[in-house]
Amino acid sequence: MLTDRYPYFFGPAHAAREATAAAFRATGTIHERVAGLAGAGLLEPTDVRGLAVTRWHLAHADALTDLAFIVQELGTFPLVTAGGFADVVTDARAGRSVVAFGLTEPDAGSDVRALATQAVRHGDGYRLTGVKHFISNAPDADRATVFARLDTGSPQETIACFLVEGPAATPQRVAGHSIGRFDFLDTPARLVSLKGLGLAFATLERCRPTVGLAAMGMAQRAFDETVRHVNTRRQFGAPLAAMPVVQSRVADMALELEAGTLTALHACWRRDTAGLGERTGYESAIGKVTATEAAQRIIDTAVQLHGGLGVEEDSVVQKLYRDIRPLRIYEGATDVLKTVIAGRWLEGS
Ligand SMILES: Cc1cc2nc3c(=O)[nH]c(=O)nc-3n(C[C@H](O)[C@H](O)[C@H](O)COP(=O)(O)OP(=O)(O)OC[C@H]3O[C@@H](n4cnc5c(N)ncnc54)[C@H](O)[C@@H]3O)c2cc1C
Repeated sequence: MLTDRYPYFFGPAHAAREATAAAFRATGTIHERVAGLAGAGLLEPTDVRGLAVTRWHLAHADALTDLAFIVQELGTFPLVTAGGFADVVTDARAGRSVVAFGLTEPDAGSDVRALATQAVRHGDGYRLTGVKHFISNAPDADRATVFARLDTGSPQETIACFLVEGPAATPQRVAGHSIGRFDFLDTPARLVSLKGLGLAFATLERCRPTVGLAAMGMAQRAFDETVRHVNTRRQFGAPLAAMPVVQSRVADMALELEAGTLTALHACWRRDTAGLGERTGYESAIGKVTATEAAQRIIDTAVQLHGGLGVEEDSVVQKLYRDIRPLRIYEGATDVLKTVIAGRWLEGS
């Protein structure tokens, strides 16, 4: 358990949550998984470390349930922060509805400020026109929190946050995920906040360090599978574990697991203990990049040490190899986060 192993990062509430997450299993549709998470109490409000320990265990068992979990947080956190959407948040936390987070557009990925979806006032509400793509859980979403431009009459156009009920989605084929695209055309929406960009960044700042823990949960699973395999698989008259090169590779995996887990947990702890208005983007970038890049290498080694079994379609490590890849892209691609890290130290970057 992370809370036993790194007790200085955690309190009793984290330990209780971790025990629940460790025992939790879900299958079926995104709705069924979200309902299961709610039934176990895992959608109750928590801090960043609470999200992180939950993600570690969910991702260790099954990447799709981890995504179902964190997307509920991404979708509802802007509503919780803005206030006034208690009914929607209650519904989501009770597992009765799936809420997506719609920020990315075809011409606004890493550069979110370039988003072009337009909002216009219409009677008491608003209408949205534009495209959002690569939206997790979109095909299953009952609601979506969406970011769009709004002309408020001030010299600078505002990026505001809206809530769309029952958004229609076109599924996108991304292996192991439920992803889709929203094509909004005069789609009715409710205003959540005029400070949409701030809400989007605050949501990402909260969730980004937890991506590192999800990555470490997957990497730990790959490590566990590998230790089991090299201890039992015999070649050249001995277990693979007896070979110095294999021992060195397993030691490298353990080193990276420790470094990735510690840096990602540190980023979560910093976010939870930061003062009001204090930014923790640097620690968050360090934690996400260190952990997700390490996880990719650990899982690659796991596949290698499994030999042919490692690329069999139904093998655990093959699935992890596929599932880990997007974590180095979404919520801040490694290369983009490296510019944040370098920017702390270098003039002109
Ligand atoms: C599985 C998955 C789930 C997702 N879920 C959601 C979701 O729920 N909601 C949502 O809004 N979005 C979601 N996204 C979208 C995700 O946030 C974007 O894919 C991500 O922000 C990158 O944008 P892009 O794909 O347009 O890549 P681009 O912005 O085109 O970047 C491509 C690559 O160029 C490089 N690059 C870009 N900018 C820089 C820079 N400044 N410096 C150095 N290198 C750079 C990086 O290597 C980057 O990976 C999801 C994506 C995936 C893959």
